[in-house]
Amino acid sequence: MRLRYKPYAKDKIEQHPQYIVAMPEQYKGKWNEVFASNQPLHIEVGTGKGRFITEMAKANPQINYMGIELYDSVIVDALDRLIEADLPNLKLLNVNARDLGKYFEKNDVDRVYLNFSDPWPKIRHEKRRLTYKNFLKLYEEILVDGGEIHFKTDNQGLFEYSLMSFSEYGLLLKYVSLDFHKSDYQGNIMTEYEQKFSEMGNRIYRCEVKYQN
Ligand code: SAM
Repeated sequence: MRLRYKPYAKDKIEQHPQYIVAMPEQYKGKWNEVFASNQPLHIEVGTGKGRFITEMAKANPQINYMGIELYDSVIVDALDRLIEADLPNLKLLNVNARDLGKYFEKNDVDRVYLNFSDPWPKIRHEKRRLTYKNFLKLYEEILVDGGEIHFKTDNQGLFEYSLMSFSEYGLLLKYVSLDFHKSDYQGNIMTEYEQKFSEMGNRIYRCEVKYQN
C-alpha cells in the first residue's frame, strides 16, 4: 500500500480511545468489556481504511468487529469512518498483527478476516505474508475451537500460496472461489482494494477455511 504520511494521525488516534483502543493489553481475555454487547468477535487483520469492517458492523449488529491496522496514517481514515458511523459493535486497533498474542487469548476471537493482504512476492519475505504458518498459529491461539479464516485477494500467486499454507497447516477448506464476483455468493461487502482492483478487471479469489480442533 502506498503510504501518505499524515502528521495529525497520532494525535487524532490518542484523542479517540473510545474508537481506537488504547492499551489493548489490558483487555486480553475480556474484550466484551469494551463493547456494548457480549457477542461474538470477528477481526480483520490489515483493515486499511476500514470500509469492509465498518460496513460489516453496520450490516451485522449481532457481531462485534475489530479492525487491526499497523500504520497510523492508514487507520486514521478508518477512524474517520467510525466517528461518522458511531457503531457500538466496532473498535479499531493500531498494532502489528505479529503481536496478536499480547492482546488476545484463546477463545477471544470467533473469526479472522484477511482482505487483500500484502502479497510479499519475494521468497525471502515469505514470513511477512499474513497466511504464513507462523500467522496461522497465532490466529489458532486466539480463535475459538473450529474458528474460521475468510480470505479475499486479487493476487493469484498469494492465493495459491495461501491455499497450500492453509492445507499444510491442517485447515479444512470449506469454500473456494476462483472468480468470486462471478459466483452466486450473496451479500458480499467490498473492501477498498476489492473495489479498485475489480474495476480494473482483476479477478477476485476468495476462500473460507476452518481450524479442525
Ligand atoms: N484490507 C484492506 C482492503 O482490502 O482494502 C487493505 C488492504 S492493504 C493491501 C493491506 C493492509 O494491511 C495495509 O493497510 C497494511 O498496512 C496492513 N498490514 C500489513 N501487514 C500488517 C501487520 N503485520 N499488522 C497489521 N496490519 C498490517
